[in-house]
Amino acid sequence: MNTIWVRTAWLLLAIAGVVFAPLASTYGMRWGLAAVVVCLLLMLAWHLVHLHLLMRWLEGPLDAPLPRGRGAWEIALAKLHRRTRVRQGQQQALAETLERFLRAFQALPDGVIAFDRHQHISWINERAETHFALSAQSDRGQALTNLIRHPGFVSYLDAGRFSEPLIYRGGRVDGLTLMLQIIPYAENQNLLVSRDISQIERIETMRSDFIANVSHELKTPLTVVAGFSEMLADDFEAYSASEIKHYLALICEQNARMQRLIEDLLTLSALESGGAAASEEALPLAPMLESIVDEARALSAGKHEIALKIETPSVLLCCANELRSAFSNLAGNAVRYTPPGGRINLAWRVVDGLGEFSVADTGIGIAAQHLPRLTERFYRVDRSRSRETGGTGLGLAIVKHVLTRHHATLEIESEPGRGSRFIARFPARCLVKA
Ligand code: ADP
Repeated sequence: MNTIWVRTAWLLLAIAGVVFAPLASTYGMRWGLAAVVVCLLLMLAWHLVHLHLLMRWLEGPLDAPLPRGRGAWEIALAKLHRRTRVRQGQQQALAETLERFLRAFQALPDGVIAFDRHQHISWINERAETHFALSAQSDRGQALTNLIRHPGFVSYLDAGRFSEPLIYRGGRVDGLTLMLQIIPYAENQNLLVSRDISQIERIETMRSDFIANVSHELKTPLTVVAGFSEMLADDFEAYSASEIKHYLALICEQNARMQRLIEDLLTLSALESGGAAASEEALPLAPMLESIVDEARALSAGKHEIALKIETPSVLLCCANELRSAFSNLAGNAVRYTPPGGRINLAWRVVDGLGEFSVADTGIGIAAQHLPRLTERFYRVDRSRSRETGGTGLGLAIVKHVLTRHHATLEIESEPGRGSRFIARFPARCLVKA
């Protein structure tokens, strides 16, 4: 049986036995009843005091401790205390779950904005703050279309057809392209999810530019080859032996050009898809640099003064084939972009623990605005000069890739009309012996 009822029954029995019975038998029934009434009034007062304490607690702050009680109140308040503790525990668990959810939303790589049917924002995660230049603190409660006023977005929101995403450009953050989608998730509640697709878009543009460039590069030699071949096939006898020789030489030249282009494209593609580390071997640099100088001299055909200076004989941990291709590209460029009579100096040294290969020429030089873009595929300062000298426009892109794979950097110093210096710097860990 409930302890409160048992205690009350015992108290009433005690009043009857200890107060009423002796007084009624000694002073008569009236005194006995009067004493019982006094006892009951005292009980009532005691309950009222506890009730008052309970009311004061209920009206007080939420974290105020429960009042202490005695007798039946002690039991009642203890149960209330237990209930409060259980409720607090549940609330805490709920708050923690909510906190975890909010943290998960914050950690999302996408922006999320929750808004109601009046388009009032109720929550914004950090990524959405960056995407739309909003502030979760000050913009909460604002109408979404007051903050994102882009006409495309407003009509997307009004149309209510959210199965397709919206590509959003030209927002408050420059250069950002977002893919937006609205997801209704509860009655009159919606999420606006934004994903940054600027990088994907850039890659897509690069890819289509690259295809356009390759097609363009192949188109001219192919047209020349096709034109002369058709001409000769149509009426071979109509041409003299020297003319035929000349046309065949032109065909061969264009073939060689296409071959160089394909070779460079294959090298670039192998470098790009070859993962991080190039296969490494300890390569003594001197013999390789000497053979590169020989090649450069052959390319120059005596038109330039070409010198090699090895200040610190070194052994480099590298992929020999890749490094040879990068260094000979730099040396070849120096020959091709230096007018006859110019000087070209190749040098290797170790400075402050870093390996440094440099190619300096007294050639045509490069204006400062071109320098940051020189290692882009097919970027040329002077297209016709590059073609005339057999360039593919891929040489420096290959150099850059090779150096990156060796954790090395490329520095370019140049002055139009005075010459250029290309410096490849290798980290100390690439130097086996210096
Ligand atoms: P290309 O096959 O056209 O030489 P690269 O990628 O090797 O292609 O070089 C890109 C461009 O950088 C060249 O077209 C040229 O304009 C410029 N360039 C490279 N090396 C030199 C140099 N040593 N002197 C002047 N310009 C250079």
